[in-house]
Amino acid sequence: MSAHFHQLADAVLAGTPATPEDALAVLRADDAELMSVVAAAGRLRRAHFGNAVKVNYLVNLKSGLCPENCNYCSQALGSSAPILKYSWLSESETLRQAGAGLKGGASRVCLVSSGRGPSTKDIDKVADMVVALKQEYPGVEVCACLGLLKDGQAERLKDAGVDAYNHNINTAESHHDNIVQTHTYADRVDTVEKAKGAGISPCSGLIAGLGETDEQLVEALFALRELGSDSIPVNFLMPFDGTPFENTWELSPTRCVKILAMARFVCPDKEIRIAGGREMHLRSLQSIALHVANSIFLGDYLTSEGQAAEADLEMIRDNGFVVQGSEEDLAQREARDPAIRRRGAGTDVLPNA
Ligand code: SF4
Repeated sequence: MSAHFHQLADAVLAGTPATPEDALAVLRADDAELMSVVAAAGRLRRAHFGNAVKVNYLVNLKSGLCPENCNYCSQALGSSAPILKYSWLSESETLRQAGAGLKGGASRVCLVSSGRGPSTKDIDKVADMVVALKQEYPGVEVCACLGLLKDGQAERLKDAGVDAYNHNINTAESHHDNIVQTHTYADRVDTVEKAKGAGISPCSGLIAGLGETDEQLVEALFALRELGSDSIPVNFLMPFDGTPFENTWELSPTRCVKILAMARFVCPDKEIRIAGGREMHLRSLQSIALHVANSIFLGDYLTSEGQAAEADLEMIRDNGFVVQGSEEDLAQREARDPAIRRRGAGTDVLPNA
């Protein structure tokens, strides 16, 4: 049976996309086959991303006080989770927070705000922050995550230099209305399409452990493939006390690895990011998961604390990976690239003879 996963990897590498049945087989693999699943999915990971891990850093610009009722969210209307609640960070504080993540090795900063969606004033504020951030840290990638977008807002963000826009579909269309009632699945898809339409890289992912069936997890992943999401954050539900999902524990570390492997088989060349719930749900399998996924958040999440950033970086190094964009990564890429001849014929430099 374990040969099956390598045959699937062969087929995907040769350009035959995985089917929903393939995805279900990965998700339902016996735990005894876990390492075969990881080895096969790891071949796809290395074919597209080598041994690099993309490191992202979250800055929660505005926390809590949200009028939407996403049942999984500690910032939602009705949540009594005792999280930090504050209104917009100033530009200088945003730069200070983002700078900490960038110094820690992150190459992408994700600027997030709670709420249904931004006003024109909010967009202007974030646009100014992005311009300032890019001035201070040339080369930084910026992802904005501000909720549902209205016409013209994605273009405004694009003009300010936003590289990516995150809006997760979160779950299958067939399960969406069970987890939130104040907006629709179609609203979420519309925002991803607006970002794409403006030429911004779409980032959209999911949350596992929301009472969905295996088939619905597969449905959500194929929807993301269809949507053309460039980066796919895979969150594992953190069941905050004070939210409707409190005490909901549906995931095991091996299931989480299989979910990530399934995402890799379905979307082999997309950034698969281990997102919220990494430490809580993968636990000691975090580093195994890095052989399948190619991206993580460094440090803390929006309303919860992650493990120490140094432990994240150590895990990357210990497993033979390098941080994408780091000196080691650039040196490896350079070593792989053909060295352009700058001596001998056509130059004044002695030939190599
Ligand atoms: S996920 Fe976003 S829109 Fe939904 S409740 Fe949380 S902050 Fe509000």
